[in-house]
Amino acid sequence: MSTRYIFVTGGVVSSLGKGITTASMGCLLEAGGLRVTMMKCDPYINVDPGTMSPFQHGEVYVTIDGAETDLDLGHYERFTASTMSRLNNVTTGQIYKSVIDKERRGDYLGATVQVVPHITDEIKNRILALGRSGSADIVIVEIGGTVGDIESLPFLEAIRQFVFDVGRENTLFVHVTLLPYIGGAHELKTKPTQHSVRALREIGIQPDLLICRTPTRFGEDAQRKIAMFCNVAPSEVFQAIDVDEVHKIPLVLRDQGIVETLVRKLNLEVLHTDMSGWEDLCRRLTESTETVSIGVAGKYINHHDAYKSIYEALRHAAAANEVKIDLVKIDTEALGDGEELSVLRRLDGLLIPGGFGSRGVEGKIRAIQYARTHGLPFFGICLGLQCAVIEFARNVCGLEDANSTEFDEETPHPVIDLLATQRTVTNLGGTMRLGGYDCALLEGSRAQRAYGVRDVRERHRHRYELNNRYRPRLEEHGLVCSGTAPDGSLVEICELRDHPWFVGCQFHPEFQSRPLSPHPLFREFVAAGRRRRRSIPGGEREGARKSLV
Ligand code: GLN
Repeated sequence: MSTRYIFVTGGVVSSLGKGITTASMGCLLEAGGLRVTMMKCDPYINVDPGTMSPFQHGEVYVTIDGAETDLDLGHYERFTASTMSRLNNVTTGQIYKSVIDKERRGDYLGATVQVVPHITDEIKNRILALGRSGSADIVIVEIGGTVGDIESLPFLEAIRQFVFDVGRENTLFVHVTLLPYIGGAHELKTKPTQHSVRALREIGIQPDLLICRTPTRFGEDAQRKIAMFCNVAPSEVFQAIDVDEVHKIPLVLRDQGIVETLVRKLNLEVLHTDMSGWEDLCRRLTESTETVSIGVAGKYINHHDAYKSIYEALRHAAAANEVKIDLVKIDTEALGDGEELSVLRRLDGLLIPGGFGSRGVEGKIRAIQYARTHGLPFFGICLGLQCAVIEFARNVCGLEDANSTEFDEETPHPVIDLLATQRTVTNLGGTMRLGGYDCALLEGSRAQRAYGVRDVRERHRHRYELNNRYRPRLEEHGLVCSGTAPDGSLVEICELRDHPWFVGCQFHPEFQSRPLSPHPLFREFVAAGRRRRRSIPGGEREGARKSLV
């Protein structure tokens, strides 16, 4: 069958859940037996989000081929079986860079290079290239930003033209909007949606489907009104009702018949959409009553999107362990010596995620010391592992002032040091050790038993690494290097033997966790938290913990 293209635009405000909606359509079509891929078009001038602060942009999602991408690609991978690559995220920066490079090479043969057609052609070629690159039946393209923004205009113009390249019958436009609820009037308002669709139609795009984010269900009257003003049929107006559990969104849309509408409009063949795995997942996520308190300690803790994949991976692990996660966000800058550490007493597990720069590092090291000496399950990821090695070097191996050269270039004991391959790097963008690398696991180690195999491939994003000069000393004192690069040159996983669960990894396992197949390290970390929780029952809990300190 010819590849079909679904374009998703957003109206009224940002943060409507356009990425989740896009991923949900992918999820449903895939459950119907179609092969799906997705693309995010970001209208900013950065070439990729790799150089942006997590405060600004949220998490940088790393693909297996080593691209630093928008966090929506995480939703796409988690909601479908598709694998994202550098082809799946396009930015204005990339488009202009490649057009300007071509102009400098003389590829345009003397033409005046313009937004239309050169920029729009470049955008269309990226979309077509993705359609042709794999074996996808459906390519879903999400346009970042909101209709009406200056920045996204070239992308909207490109997708308008795209219809003429692949045929109207092979394209579908979905517009995601908001129906705000005005308390005083007790009413959901449709006017912003009407205006946003009008703005789309002014540039030549008539949406085929509307997905309206709404705090409460609306009735047939509102549906008819929206349909009439927006030039669609009432059956083409869908409701994305606020839900307590994001994994319910595909089910909410399915129950309104979105699969049948997509099948009809794009002339697809879908026999039966089996969502039983997701239904079971939602049941476990919402109905589990047992809780496990997991502390996540980092410096971007007040920005939920900065650790998006970490939180999602914890939820996958929670579903697998039939528990709920009580997420305790800990700002490591506030972790001093004394009373502040008491927040750790109520935890069943401590996770320290990745990060950059020295801010909050000493707090992390203190928290890790507590976890190591109090049998509190600990999971360190990237910077989290590096801090665990520093703590172990200082407090177990007696290497006073051990540090990473990222934080102290003059440290007498650089137990974490710049990778040899990074010494000549000068540019910031896309130059870290990025993407998938193989890792050989030590037979019988905690990590190896969690994975159940000997060799794995995980995604990386770092410049620093355990310094091999210190490896013998660390190992003599009991640190187990349970995962290494296959040639043994780099340490990828460290763990402690005489501890209920203490594991750190140099890679980012959170990027490979899926709702129905949680990452083994996350799954076992939460299982260890559950064991700890159960070992200190009810009322004795606080008391027992206090006595540990
Ligand atoms: N800053 C550390 C490094 O570059 C850790 C990076 C990370 O946590 N992703 O190695």
